[in-house]
Amino acid sequence: GLSKRLNKVKDMIPHEVQTFADIGSDHAYLPCQVCLERPNVFAIAGEVNEGPYHAAVHQVESAQLTERIDVRLGDGLQILENREVDCITIAGMGGSLITNILKQGMHVLEGVKTLVLQPNIDASSIRQFAIDYQYEIINEDVILEDGYIYELVVLTPSDTSVDYTGKQIYLGPVMLQSKNKAFYQKWKQVYYKKKSIIEQMKQAKQPNELKIKEFKQQIQWIEEEVF
Ligand code: SAM
Repeated sequence: GLSKRLNKVKDMIPHEVQTFADIGSDHAYLPCQVCLERPNVFAIAGEVNEGPYHAAVHQVESAQLTERIDVRLGDGLQILENREVDCITIAGMGGSLITNILKQGMHVLEGVKTLVLQPNIDASSIRQFAIDYQYEIINEDVILEDGYIYELVVLTPSDTSVDYTGKQIYLGPVMLQSKNKAFYQKWKQVYYKKKSIIEQMKQAKQPNELKIKEFKQQIQWIEEEVF
């Protein structure tokens, strides 16, 4: 079966979805599992690298899903035509790589109703993308697996302008409403790490005051919400 992390991604794909693209699919485990569980779903697995691309082709063949999963080699959303899918998943990459992929493919995002994103780091850049490109954050989660902590952020296009506070961008507007165990665990870890980084930064010959101020603000947000 899927990892706990990819299972969460799978569970955040809305039930009405009929076609979705998984970008950076590696072995195409996610589209294979979704298609096995949902007989009416069609998927596209995108990969920019030859190795993972061939792994995906092989996996789809051995799952006998070649009729329903199209594996494509190419960069980001460039493998998609307009209005081909109603949902896109991007998992297991850094938040800023994910937002770069989205920004470079804005033209195919028209008609895409749901973006299920699982950044390994830097989820806040995805929330900033939501503000900049008028997406609403409709779901989030923080999960712990094998000692690693992952965040998930689900976006949908919004008719009206979107705004989130600095604290919401940092900690997640949905997570702030539904804090779970992994959320507390993640932010406690970050808290102690940031505190010690600040101490190191203060000892520099020319301390980066702006960065220190930013970290202090983040520490304060964590204090308000986690302790
Ligand atoms: N999505 C899978 C998961 O969550 O387990 C695989 C994650 S793997 C760490 C990241 C994958 O993204 C790699 O296979 C890499 O080749 C692919 N990738 C990185 N940049 C990409 C891009 N611009 N377009 C398509 N795939 C990309």
